[in-house]
Amino acid sequence: MSYRRCSFCHERGHTKASCPTYIAHIERRRANYGDDDWHVKNYDAKKRKKAESAKNRKCSYCREGGHTRRTCAALKADIETTREILVEFRRNWLNRLVEEGLGNGALVAVDVWGERRLYFVRSMLTRDVVWWNKPTRPAIGVKRQDLRDAIQRPGWHENRLAWPSATRRAAERNHPDRDPSLYGLLGGPSESQIRAQFTDAWLNGQDGSVEAAFKWSSRKGGRGALPVKAEFDWHMRRSRDYLTEVR
Ligand SMILES: [Zn+2]
Ligand SMILES: [Zn+2]
Repeated sequence: MSYRRCSFCHERGHTKASCPTYIAHIERRRANYGDDDWHVKNYDAKKRKKAESAKNRKCSYCREGGHTRRTCAALKADIETTREILVEFRRNWLNRLVEEGLGNGALVAVDVWGERRLYFVRSMLTRDVVWWNKPTRPAIGVKRQDLRDAIQRPGWHENRLAWPSATRRAAERNHPDRDPSLYGLLGGPSESQIRAQFTDAWLNGQDGSVEAAFKWSSRKGGRGALPVKAEFDWHMRRSRDYLTEVR
């Protein structure tokens, strides 16, 4: 219930436009003085304008008229398409993890400006694994502990790791004097252990990330990555590239 007061009768819970006392007052004037009465005319004009703007309102997703976001058929279809692609994307991504031997508990050696660093992977940022959130380079979000500064900076840090095989190839290229096997994956979980780290809900795109992407706006959580059809279409045209880049 609104705490604002009606500007006509000063009661709470409604506005002047829907005030029963005001409407009765107008209808009484209409009966006594006709439609040309100034108050009646003003009331009718406001009502007409309101109806007109409701008719001209566009769907916030597809920008077409005649329906709202809640009943938008295009939005419903795009959500399902997004989910279908996401299932494929995540399956590819998980297969790539298995191929790389990367999972929670993996030890990875990374080259940071010529310095070799050891990262212990605690967990994957699995909510980030979505095809429309294309990373600038093939990378995986992880929570990791840099073993070098585990004492100075204890705690877990989020960051993006390159695929360990790419790290090794880059080290081979950049440091021909060093042993390449000192880079990339040094040890990690088995295939079944990696696969067990992901839930069916996540694999099936039922973990809420699709719904979050299509979020229009709200005070809590904010806007998603695909709030309007134009943005969805833009990413959609690139979705095949996103899928093959995981491989
Ligand atoms: Zn009132
Ligand atoms: Zn629509």
